[in-house]
Amino acid sequence: MTANPNLSLDEQTKHCARCGACKAQCPSYGFEPHEAMTARGRLALIRLMTGGHLPDSRKLRYHINTCLHCGQCDASCPMRLDIQEILFHGKKGLPVGFLFRKLSRLALSPTRADLLFGVARVTHGLMYRPLEYVRKYRHIPVPARRPFRNRHKLFRDTDARGRVALFVGCSINYLYPEIAEDLLDILLMLGYEVVVRQGEVCCGAPFRELGLHEVAEDLAKRNIDLFAKMHVDAIISACPTCTLTLKVQYPKLVQVPSDFIERISDVNEFLARILDAPLLDTGPVAYHDPCHLINALSVRREPRDLIRATGATLLENPAEPRCCGFGGTFGFLHYEMSRKIGSECMDHVLRPDIRRLITACPGCKMQFEDILRGRQDVQVLHIVQYLRQAMDRAALREDSVLIENEGSGGPAD
Ligand code: SF4
Ligand code: SF4
Repeated sequence: MTANPNLSLDEQTKHCARCGACKAQCPSYGFEPHEAMTARGRLALIRLMTGGHLPDSRKLRYHINTCLHCGQCDASCPMRLDIQEILFHGKKGLPVGFLFRKLSRLALSPTRADLLFGVARVTHGLMYRPLEYVRKYRHIPVPARRPFRNRHKLFRDTDARGRVALFVGCSINYLYPEIAEDLLDILLMLGYEVVVRQGEVCCGAPFRELGLHEVAEDLAKRNIDLFAKMHVDAIISACPTCTLTLKVQYPKLVQVPSDFIERISDVNEFLARILDAPLLDTGPVAYHDPCHLINALSVRREPRDLIRATGATLLENPAEPRCCGFGGTFGFLHYEMSRKIGSECMDHVLRPDIRRLITACPGCKMQFEDILRGRQDVQVLHIVQYLRQAMDRAALREDSVLIENEGSGGPAD
């Protein structure tokens, strides 16, 4: 028997069978083996809280807010409870700090978000770097001087095989614009017309994590207004959290046209269907499954197919994948716990002979770069960066064959 999806979230909490299956892979429980750090325990707390039997307290907030929203519990729950929605629902009942409330308003306008990251860029070296250096704060890339979305608009190809839009997402737009540049190059090389929308706002995921439900709703409406009427075959995202939010969570927040949902595509799924360009790589690589991609969007095969298509050897730990410990806002607010979970994940995924670690999420990349700080022997790549490099290598190889052929008639200068 599974819980009825029409049941309210409050009613769903009563359908927990208390089986404990959600404990096995829960990263917060792994860090602190305490019932209140599991999905089962959190559901019980939320049930008591929403029923008026448990007042707000620091301890209660700690237990609810230390969930990473990795979705491991949803994937293992035999009652198919919508645990993430229940957790978001519970967070709505907790107070949110004044500063978060104020800053959240900036996300509603792309211009103000640009300004916020511009200030972060200026203060990064002066204030953040020293604290980052002594490992008080996590490593964050310096925000880009010019965010990706402000660099581009439309790449027209009169003979295009299709037309796609990019949902860039904040971490790629401001912190890793090079991932979006590589994705743009790949799509153009494959013959697509690519649209970059200037009015895109944050997908809303960090605000749901913080319990700022109304901000997330507002952001959802703005993005749907911007993207739903576009004449594109797909809206592609290289951030699994953005993809999950747009595809799975928006319909739980606001009215969403069905053709909007259908066109949201994770970059791995999209590229695995169409990538026929020559790719070239050799040597062993490791791949880390981002939680939102594997647990919530069930994208497991596609990144592996893409990596193997390059000719590289994918070395995997046969045990179940682990959460990297980043968890969006969690990784900043609970840094010590985040690092510990991340270090265990790193040991799980990375064998000593592997020099390249591939993942498909900017958040996981940031987390691994933080854990590997000071080590020059391992490179962390988003899968889009990896594929772009493999395409370059294949092009180089083709060029060198050409030169060899050209030179075969006589000595080369
Ligand atoms: S989402 Fe992850 S961290 Fe949160 S309760 Fe479920 S398994 Fe634990
Ligand atoms: S796996 Fe699901 S049903 Fe079992 S204890 Fe956890 S939340 Fe309850």
